[in-house]
Amino acid sequence: MRKVFEIFSLLVFLKLTNCFICSSVYANQADCIEAIKHLEIITGVRTFAYLGEEQKIVDRSVNQRGFNGRGVTVHYLESVAQQLGYKTDRQSWNARMRSSGGSIELTNLIVNGPAASTSAPTLIIGAHYDSINSDSGSWMDRHGRYRATPGADDNGSGVVALLTLLKRFRSIAPKLNLQIVFFDAEEPSPTGVFVGSRYFVNHLVKNGKVTSVKMAIILDMIGRPSRLYPDLYNLSADKISPSFLIEGLSAKQAPFPFIRESEQKDFINITDNQNFNKAGIPSILVTDVVSLRDLPDHYHTVRDRAEFIDWRYWESIVNQVENLVRKIAR
Ligand SMILES: [Zn+2]
Repeated sequence: MRKVFEIFSLLVFLKLTNCFICSSVYANQADCIEAIKHLEIITGVRTFAYLGEEQKIVDRSVNQRGFNGRGVTVHYLESVAQQLGYKTDRQSWNARMRSSGGSIELTNLIVNGPAASTSAPTLIIGAHYDSINSDSGSWMDRHGRYRATPGADDNGSGVVALLTLLKRFRSIAPKLNLQIVFFDAEEPSPTGVFVGSRYFVNHLVKNGKVTSVKMAIILDMIGRPSRLYPDLYNLSADKISPSFLIEGLSAKQAPFPFIRESEQKDFINITDNQNFNKAGIPSILVTDVVSLRDLPDHYHTVRDRAEFIDWRYWESIVNQVENLVRKIAR
């Protein structure tokens, strides 16, 4: 009984500290608490009620073993967006599995954000919701239970940023149409890499809609600052001038945008932004990976857990992306 009481006290203490940290550090306590809840659901720390059953997202990878983590994640993201009053579309297709020759259904979730008019250009803000499951990303614990990477930083951090931005953009009247997209299958899997965003961009090309897209902003890993450069994040852009970005991000705020022309080549092709660049759509990548030589320890491992997210760092990046979007869209 005493043990139970001790555990209970510890849980109460942790909860209080959580709230205390939120209220003392974050400009927007409600957003912070909600983002933590979303991330805990996406990374399987908590369950949520769906279709009358408590669901737990264990594994968001394409080659998940018996779980449908990505499917349940899409349901969850869809329900959050719809509760905020947005209309959502599922873009689903069958992707070929290179290893087996079979196929698997993949789904991008498109949220139609605040719109200007049908003729106005579109601003896309995207993040991949799948996580990796490879030898480095999953394992059996000593009880023989299967464990996968929770993918909290990669890329739960980008996903909950999009949910936060959806909440903040509810009341804006932009001059551009905002489209918020949760991409499937960014991580290496038997279907390839960057597969969801490639399908999305190919669809734009096929429908002659490339020129109607003004820009894409991709968020991929924005929750854990680099050990070498804790106040920085990387912001790589193709076809967009650095001065525009510095101005747009109001560089007086910390963390300061980190733009190194010489390193940009390394970063241009590391995630979903690659597909937009290839199609000629200007894109910006926002990531906590400051340089490829400084990949974080938790990268693609089971240690990529929600409890290690630095919410202060995360929130300051979200605020700057929000500023940038407001600037571009007004
Ligand atoms: Zn990854």
